[in-house]
Amino acid sequence: MKYLTEFRDGELAQKLAAEIRAAVTRPWAIMEVCGGQTHAIIRHGLDQLLPPELELVHGPGCPVCVTPVAAIDRALAVAAAPGVIFCSFGDMLRVPGTREDLFAVKGRGADVRVVYSPLDAVRLAKGNPARQVVFFAIGFETTAPANALAVHQAAQLGLANFSVLVSHVLVPPAMEAILSSPANRVRAFLAAGHVCSVMGYHQYPPLAERYRVPIVVTGFEPLDLLDGIRRAVRQLEAGTHAVENAYPRVVTFDGNRAAQAMLAEVFEVCDRDWRGIGTIPNSGWRLRGGYRRFDAEERFAVGDIRSAESPHCRSGEVLRGTLKPNQCPAFGTTCTPRTPLGATMVSGEGACAAYFNYGRLTAVGTERATCPT
Ligand code: SF4
Repeated sequence: MKYLTEFRDGELAQKLAAEIRAAVTRPWAIMEVCGGQTHAIIRHGLDQLLPPELELVHGPGCPVCVTPVAAIDRALAVAAAPGVIFCSFGDMLRVPGTREDLFAVKGRGADVRVVYSPLDAVRLAKGNPARQVVFFAIGFETTAPANALAVHQAAQLGLANFSVLVSHVLVPPAMEAILSSPANRVRAFLAAGHVCSVMGYHQYPPLAERYRVPIVVTGFEPLDLLDGIRRAVRQLEAGTHAVENAYPRVVTFDGNRAAQAMLAEVFEVCDRDWRGIGTIPNSGWRLRGGYRRFDAEERFAVGDIRSAESPHCRSGEVLRGTLKPNQCPAFGTTCTPRTPLGATMVSGEGACAAYFNYGRLTAVGTERATCPT
């Protein structure tokens, strides 16, 4: 535990927070990209240590939250097909599609199983040759290498009864979409440390240069986050826009080359829909030609399903950083973790769930966050 407690030292946290308070001279909005970082910030109350001029804006880095409703609807259709074993991570079971969720389909007798690795799904396919086994492959650059490996392994085993429903998304294009929006208020990013542990951070300098934003690769413990914020504030106050690595114990400039090679072997970049946000060019992965036979969307012909978002859920604004969860009228009333209207209230990394679970329960009306541009 030594390695953990070192990064949760209360005295050091207060010292870092004092340095941040002393450095801030005017309003700034800094976005933490990753939902895991959002949860750590809210859970440890780090935002409450910061000066009022400094606003932390929560980003789109929650894999379950950004999986589009159409992908959920396709998952529901595949899971309901006869003879299918549908495998998913647990969070996905309660994410609402247009009319229902995977739990409802499971309740009607579909064989929906929670797995902890896509390789578990490959093993299931190997052990059940008379059944079709489908894995719901969602998430960012962090989960994608294991999913690519599962497809690669299925190919090597010659499995004809394994497929993946792919809805992978990529972080840098989403950051660019936020920065290029006319509504953007974000002046600096805390980049997601675990994404960078796979991909490195060599893709960020052009983004920092083009939009003149500091980008600090940041970890997930309280001191990691405060250090990331301190570095971002220093740059903002100095008028610089460099990429800094504040997570060197995990992240290198080049990242994990073996994982990147596996990704390039199995996937190719494509445009991708993001739940509540819309289509972002070149922001996702799909199976390459040589692996297209493992595409569940084609195998089960579920590409044309019509989908619709809940008109009451404003998670798109939450994911773009233009609305705080407790500014949503449904927050804590018609929308709770037991009765979620949107994925951001369901997911273990969702911003709405973070606010609800860690006691930010006061609904504060529907006004937008006030940090000036
Ligand atoms: S509180 Fe519920 S309804 Fe509102 S944005 Fe979050 S998930 Fe959607």
